[in-house]
Amino acid sequence: MGAGVFELADGVWQLAPSPGINCWVVRDGDDATLVDTGLSSSAANLVRQLRGVGVRRGDIRRVLLTHSHADHMGAVAPLLRTRVNAEVLAGEADVEAVRTGVQPDADPSTVAGRMWNLLPRSTPFVTPQPVPEAQAIAIGTTIPVAGGLVPVATPGHTPGHVAYHLPARDVVLGGDVVWNFFRLRPAPTMTCWRVEANHDSILRLADLAPGTLALAHGSPVDDDPAGRLRQLVADHA
Ligand SMILES: [Zn+2]
Repeated sequence: MGAGVFELADGVWQLAPSPGINCWVVRDGDDATLVDTGLSSSAANLVRQLRGVGVRRGDIRRVLLTHSHADHMGAVAPLLRTRVNAEVLAGEADVEAVRTGVQPDADPSTVAGRMWNLLPRSTPFVTPQPVPEAQAIAIGTTIPVAGGLVPVATPGHTPGHVAYHLPARDVVLGGDVVWNFFRLRPAPTMTCWRVEANHDSILRLADLAPGTLALAHGSPVDDDPAGRLRQLVADHA
């Protein structure tokens, strides 16, 4: 099945197309919804991992993005070139970055953000292949798969960051609002668009009170995610 691949909840699989970068597929019969895709360089491995959990390219009806960064949208363009005929949806304020590949500046109020803003942007790790087909996802609507998949606006890491809530599965796919390598912490300030707004989004995830909070970077949190998220904001206040 591949390293880092496991079933988070009924029909919800976590994939890891490259080490340290997770994405997810939600299966409902032969309808598959991909949430994030990893880097373009790991697109072939993503397809292998999908096949390992019974998902073929033709099953993928939609690709939902948590945000526009290359390690999340990178494999969308390669997938669309290889028999994947899916709609691509992202938070409204990230759609332009997905369509062009050009990423927003990091928060200029942090030292790390100012350093990041000085770096050249012309590498595929920073500027992914554009996806002109991308459309804005409707916040507040429910996508009728796996008992309902609800996009939740969680701006801060990027202007249009979106988390995805599966209430019937008691799971939140939290993208880059927080990371959980070794310990739970806000995503690094270096690539964060607005640090304060991201703190508000950490509390928004806590309010969803999921049994399991899955993250793009690091292990899922299933021991009181809400309490731990609130503690994190208190610690960083
Ligand atoms: Zn990111």
